[in-house]
Amino acid sequence: MVAIIIFLGPAGSGKSSLTSSYSRWLREFLGARIFIVNLDPATEFIPYKPDLDIRDLIDIHRISKEFGLGPNGVLVKAMDIIANEMIYIFEDLKYIDTDFILIDTPGQMEVFIFRDIAIKLVNELKKLSNNVVAVFVLDADVIKRYEDYAFISIMSTALQARMGIDVVPVINKIDLVQSLLIVGDTISDIDIVIENIRNKGLYGEMLSNILNIIWQYAKATRVPRVSAKEFIGIEELHRIIHELTCSCGDLT
Ligand code: GDP
Ligand code: MG
Repeated sequence: MVAIIIFLGPAGSGKSSLTSSYSRWLREFLGARIFIVNLDPATEFIPYKPDLDIRDLIDIHRISKEFGLGPNGVLVKAMDIIANEMIYIFEDLKYIDTDFILIDTPGQMEVFIFRDIAIKLVNELKKLSNNVVAVFVLDADVIKRYEDYAFISIMSTALQARMGIDVVPVINKIDLVQSLLIVGDTISDIDIVIENIRNKGLYGEMLSNILNIIWQYAKATRVPRVSAKEFIGIEELHRIIHELTCSCGDLT
């Protein structure tokens, strides 16, 4: 069955770059067939050749003129239009013979995740396959403190709750950081993280309790460090995605 991977994350974290690098890795190392969807109507440049490009269906410059909207308003409008057309946009995908469908989402994560489009997208994708996962891409520069590490876990869990699919957190741009605070996996590091935040008052205590519960239930406990640019860690990312989509492995 086809595996569908949605790349989510804040603007500039490297969703499009990782979509590109992962697709290259899948083609080159697995000889897999890949279908790439670009769902960002506002992007000027994407580092891969999309098989389905939302820009062919939606012209944000025309929407901007027609409704008199600025840069944020036009994106919100575009997301609502795409959400309403979702069934038609993805209709033909059921006839496509491919191993992986990679979905690159809009630069601004909030216009995607806080609107109807995220839910409608997952609904359509679930009609195509039971193997739908999201990769939550964060910039390594954002992960500097123990609290930031907690933030990744909590955000991933929130995204999972919102979309109803497994979410794999990924730290990208590892080529730009000298060293990361946390280097192992979250399971072996849980004590270090909790130890370091627990004593920071009531807030720290609350955070450590939340983390304890999340990690108790988490399927993907490893957080791969990757560089979409330098092609680092892509195999590790794939292993986690594979274990989730084939439900065959232990992720600890
Ligand atoms: P998106 O908005 O999440 O789709 O982010 P992009 O893929 O467009 O990347 C934003 C910027 O970060 C671009 O200038 C990329 O070249 C750069 N970038 C992406 N991944 C990496 C990486 O692994 N390392 C470095 N150094 N830069 C990266
Ligand atoms: Mg992008």
